[in-house]
Amino acid sequence: MKRFLSILLILALVLGMAGCSTNKPPEQKQNKPEEVKLNGTYEGTGIGRGGNIVVELTIADNKISAVKVKEHHETEGLAEAMNIITNAMIATNNLDVDSVSGATLTSAGFKTAVKDAFSKTGVGADTLVKAGSVEIEKRESEYTADVIVIGAGGAGMTAAVAAADNGASVIVIEKMPIQGGNTLISGGEYAAPGNWIQEKEGIEDSAEQFYNDILKGGDNKNDPALVRVLADNALAGATWLKDYIGMDFEDYMLFFGGHSVERSLVPRNATGYEMIHKLTLKLEEKDIPLHKNTSATELIKNQDGRVVGVKAEYDGKTITYNANKSVILATGGFGANIDMRVKYNSAMNEKILSTNTVGSTGDGIVMAENSGVQLVDMEYIQTYPTCDAQSGALLYVGDVRMEGRSILVNKEGRRFVEELERRDVISNAVIEQTGGVSYMFWDESSMKDSGVNVTHEAEYNGLILRKQLVKADTIEEAAAFFDINADELKKTVENYNQYAKDGKDLEFNKRGKLVPFEGGPYYIMVSKPAVHHTMGGVKINTDAQVIDTDGNVIEGLFAAGEITGDIHGTNRLGSDAIADITVFGRIAGENAAK
Ligand code: ADP
Repeated sequence: MKRFLSILLILALVLGMAGCSTNKPPEQKQNKPEEVKLNGTYEGTGIGRGGNIVVELTIADNKISAVKVKEHHETEGLAEAMNIITNAMIATNNLDVDSVSGATLTSAGFKTAVKDAFSKTGVGADTLVKAGSVEIEKRESEYTADVIVIGAGGAGMTAAVAAADNGASVIVIEKMPIQGGNTLISGGEYAAPGNWIQEKEGIEDSAEQFYNDILKGGDNKNDPALVRVLADNALAGATWLKDYIGMDFEDYMLFFGGHSVERSLVPRNATGYEMIHKLTLKLEEKDIPLHKNTSATELIKNQDGRVVGVKAEYDGKTITYNANKSVILATGGFGANIDMRVKYNSAMNEKILSTNTVGSTGDGIVMAENSGVQLVDMEYIQTYPTCDAQSGALLYVGDVRMEGRSILVNKEGRRFVEELERRDVISNAVIEQTGGVSYMFWDESSMKDSGVNVTHEAEYNGLILRKQLVKADTIEEAAAFFDINADELKKTVENYNQYAKDGKDLEFNKRGKLVPFEGGPYYIMVSKPAVHHTMGGVKINTDAQVIDTDGNVIEGLFAAGEITGDIHGTNRLGSDAIADITVFGRIAGENAAK
């Protein structure tokens, strides 16, 4: 009788679960794993960085067979983390797999969604009999190529393509599971004097004017020779990205702080993904191997002091990469390494958040220093003035500022800085305000013109949900949300509108065209500064060759991107980094191939 009942029970369970897509938990929950035959498709939801992640989990004969993402709003590129986790779950038949480094929030949201889906089976996770392990890409203990590139951000991948185009065999090594570095999570804007949009709009600009802006922005602490190279080659770099790499650009520009004219090109969807994605495709087209999860640890020199290779760690093992010709350092900056920040600038302690990816730990700078490379400008660390007050992340909705369509006010309802000033000037001014935060204010017509709520919809919705941004019909209401002095804010807006009418900002002499606020609804977003860019790094010459502590060239070693110093002086202007990594990435690649 007992046996008969349990057979019935199993039968009921099997029938109840097979093809189950109703998400209704079966009644019987406590079964031995081997007694349950689990088949079906279940839906679950989690919250990632950009909002809801909805997945469909398919189980066939107690095995995870597929996880389909039905909805997500994660950063393009970082969404790859969901594929990595899915593969690991399928390989191990386990829901508890590692998160993907550099995509923590996406990983957590995705795993929650899958677990939520599984919970609808009504059985315990032990029903999934664990099997197998995540297959790790096999690696040799030694590789040889003409050029070894360390770091697959924008600079490294640009250099790799340029080296290959100049006849070199190339291998790129990247320590993270996903390539792209800070370039990927940036807005990707590119300062290009004399560009095609400026031409169309009749905006006069020149390499000379750009050169002067970069020097002025960096308080003339930059190396003028390097700045000259950047300014003179910025347009050619942008054209190369567009015509050769195949990047799509939007048909509008942004006006970044410290520039004397509007000159910053905007990639598709205003994110760095466009550059990283198209460079990745180019690497594939050229059969350039990209060894991910591989962390360079040491430069190898021969007895003449020439750099001839790199030692790296992969899956706990040491791999030697031999370079017939050269090694290119493109490991980015150290904004995510608090100890290193404090070592060079004690103000940049743990209290200051960071916009950087976790991979920006300055490894390349340390490796270079251990090999006798000269470091410069290490104390110049830039904070971005308007970041997420909770996480430190860059806020793209805040780009409404670069369109000249918003003002920054404090709790007292007053403006306190020119909104298109340099990043360091604005950041320093914000730190002085009540609560160390600023409030960005704009109106509906600014919102419509800039479209930031459409271009960056997920971020916009997230900010509203997290109460970091308010939309309200009146200035009073918007001000009350953040406890800002409403009477003062109204006066500030009236004054600003008068300045816009007269064409002159009497208080802060704001550059660009002044556009008056027309009416509600109004928006206010709270933000604060976070570490964004480290200006210091290894010393290079105009050929991107790395210089040692005695001022001599180190043969066989080149560097490009945020790892280098001396280009931006005390302060990098917005959208100059992408120009920098493209210009010097190309130079490093070309010369390394010689
Ligand atoms: P850049 O703008 O100069 O290209 P990014 O931050 O975009 O800088 O890219 C730097 C890349 O270098 C990142 O993808 C980062 O993970 C990678 N990286 C950092 N340290 C190492 C290392 N030790 N070995 C390999 N790659 C590294």
